[in-house]
Amino acid sequence: MNNTFKNKELSLQKSDKLDWNIIQTEMKNKLGIEIYESWLKKINFVEEFNNYILLAVPTRFIRDWITSRYLDQILQTIRSYKKEIIRIEFKIIEQDNITNNTETKTEKTDINENISFIKDSYLQYNRIDPNKRFDNFITGSSNKLAYEASFKVSENISHYNPLYIYGGVGLGKTHLLNSIGLELKKNNKVMFISAERFMYQFVKSIKSNDMVKFKEYFRNTDILLIDDIQFMNGKEAMQEEFFHTFNALLDKGSQIIVSADRAPNKLSRIQERIKSRFSGGLVIDIQKPDIQLRRKIIEKKTEELNILYTGQIKISDEIQEFISKEITNSIREVVGAVNRIISFSRIYNKIPNLTETKVVLKDLLNLSENKVTIDLIQTLVCKFFKISKNEMLSSRRSRYLVRPRQTAIYLTKVLTSKSLPEIGREFSNRDHTTIIHSVKTIEKLKEKDPEMVDNINKLKNQILYSNSQDEI
Ligand code: ADP
Ligand code: MG
Repeated sequence: MNNTFKNKELSLQKSDKLDWNIIQTEMKNKLGIEIYESWLKKINFVEEFNNYILLAVPTRFIRDWITSRYLDQILQTIRSYKKEIIRIEFKIIEQDNITNNTETKTEKTDINENISFIKDSYLQYNRIDPNKRFDNFITGSSNKLAYEASFKVSENISHYNPLYIYGGVGLGKTHLLNSIGLELKKNNKVMFISAERFMYQFVKSIKSNDMVKFKEYFRNTDILLIDDIQFMNGKEAMQEEFFHTFNALLDKGSQIIVSADRAPNKLSRIQERIKSRFSGGLVIDIQKPDIQLRRKIIEKKTEELNILYTGQIKISDEIQEFISKEITNSIREVVGAVNRIISFSRIYNKIPNLTETKVVLKDLLNLSENKVTIDLIQTLVCKFFKISKNEMLSSRRSRYLVRPRQTAIYLTKVLTSKSLPEIGREFSNRDHTTIIHSVKTIEKLKEKDPEMVDNINKLKNQILYSNSQDEI
């Protein structure tokens, strides 16, 4: 009894929090730079609890990949520093939303004398990423105006003031703000912060009676870049402070650049006078990338990665086309898809084929995957082999029915995430062993029968593209 109490007390007193940087370094040494760069680097530390820790990764795919391959080693590494930890949990958070870890990692912070910098560790959020520059921002009709305005601002302060850039997630807003920051910090004091972080610092400063420092800090800058201003909604006291900072900066001729996910007048729960100040400068939107831009991004990113890794990796035209057609929502996802393919090919020493690509990119292809239903597969396979659906679902075992049935089962297994029993149910309550048998039979046939391969490919394309063709 006494003992446990003592231990508890001890562990409360000791500031033996895990240092995630050390764990990361250790994992890099243990598992190799390759695996580290491709996967483990993406893990961010979120929080530590009594006996488990919460980590964040940007996607489900990465989580699954990591848990299926490296979880044991990660846990082992962690336990070598802290025995109490018996389990790891993952949370999926997009990279840009992770702000906590910026406090612990300092070695990468790009500190330049011209960037305002306060020694308190909690203020080390003024991070400008050297990898997000104007020269690697790829333009198309959807983002050209935003790019040009940003570029102009970086050349000629107060050309447009404030500059307000808005658009959906992953379309390049942060990239542009960062590029402006990188350019301007050469000769100016630059402050680059997300609205969330601004809020966090604001509250923290109030609590610690540090408002004077906070005010000085922000009002002292030549360039204020505020990312994702929509997150400032509803926080009255902070908006008040922001409004004053904003005015003070404009008065002294500082440049302000703001990004948001929507137009100023659509911002909810933000004071009218702030919105109207935003509208008073230049307001520009970034649209979703069109197919040309998506193609260009895939091409450029592949080139970039090839330079980075020296070995030439060629993503086939088929795959490039597939990515550019299927991943339409954001540039982040397009870039992410290319990274994955390259990472996959470096680990397995081959470029994934179309089916493998679908597995690798599954989480990014959610929408198109949902369009693929068992019913659609059955319908198209029946049409292809010129049999009726009743025949396909019947128990008759004539050869001309068995192959199409097995093909449909195989395609369902490959193109949907349905389990074997689920598939069995949809094929007139067949047993899951029958389903396995069908899948195996087709796989074997594919190995020796080119016609089979050809048919499967034709069918796959019909199934995957049937909906988008309907829409045109
Ligand atoms: P947002 O802030 O709009 O959510 P980001 O600026 O964070 O989007 O962009 C997401 C990812 O996509 C980043 O890795 C960024 O570098 C990349 N990206 C976005 N737009 C472009 C572009 N036009 N050219 C090159 N990379 C881009
Ligand atoms: Mg952003």
